[in-house]
Amino acid sequence: MGTGIRAIKNLRLFPTPLVWKQELAPEVYVLGFKREEDFLPGQVVGISHSLELEPRLYSIASGNKDESLEILFNVNPEGALTPILGKQNPRNILQLSKPFGSFTLNENRASYWIAAGTGIAPFRSYLRSGLPAPIELIHGGRQLQSFYFQDEFLQKIPSGYVRCCTQEKGENLYEGRLTNYLREHTTLQLDANFYLCGSAEMVVEVRDILLAKGVSYQQIIAEIYF
Ligand SMILES: Cc1cc2nc3c(=O)[nH]c(=O)nc-3n(C[C@H](O)[C@H](O)[C@H](O)COP(=O)(O)OP(=O)(O)OC[C@H]3O[C@@H](n4cnc5c(N)ncnc54)[C@H](O)[C@@H]3O)c2cc1C
Repeated sequence: MGTGIRAIKNLRLFPTPLVWKQELAPEVYVLGFKREEDFLPGQVVGISHSLELEPRLYSIASGNKDESLEILFNVNPEGALTPILGKQNPRNILQLSKPFGSFTLNENRASYWIAAGTGIAPFRSYLRSGLPAPIELIHGGRQLQSFYFQDEFLQKIPSGYVRCCTQEKGENLYEGRLTNYLREHTTLQLDANFYLCGSAEMVVEVRDILLAKGVSYQQIIAEIYF
């Protein structure tokens, strides 16, 4: 299984004004900056509010031709950075690294994209950058409001966008955890690549399900949000 990056120390940071901020759900925000750099869809940036606090990593959620560089995050009330990030306003100066990372899509193979929570961010970047749509995009969330950017996904992946919701019922939603959805899935294309993004817990559980179904280790590519 390929995994993403961990090292965040010694990242070079650049003062960058926040251009806009949007609250997608309570304590879940998109921050928009002016895109200054080229990047590969799936890459991350390091962000902090000050040089005193080690930056945290965030997947770029926007497309590589979009005017803005966007990140999606949820506030962790016990965290050091996200409560502060959630209070930022346009024109405030944040510290950003250049884009880096290797959670990039192999366009030559069919793929499944599997995300939990804010782990949906890199997949939005894939699609907005014009990369081929997946066989399925499977997104796990607790509530109806957890399916960030769902209008875009419904439009671009009309028949392969699967929302797995654990706490609420809704039209066209799978009721339950994405891991149950995968366990019950009988027509998975086992020779595809599987891109996983989210918590370590989700990634490990999904990886084990896929391996048990006969997917090989090399076909599972993961970005873990520590
Ligand atoms: C490659 C990568 C990409 C990521 N992309 C995203 C993304 O797109 N969106 C997103 O929302 N998140 C993403 N993350 C996670 C993000 O980097 C942060 O970890 C997250 O936002 C929390 O930051 P924080 O500063 O608020 O919390 P932190 O201060 O880092 O704390 C996180 C948790 O650890 C606990 N903790 C902290 N220090 C200690 C300690 N010493 N002992 C015990 N517990 C401790 C805290 O109580 C808290 O619950 C990504 C992570 C990685 C590695």
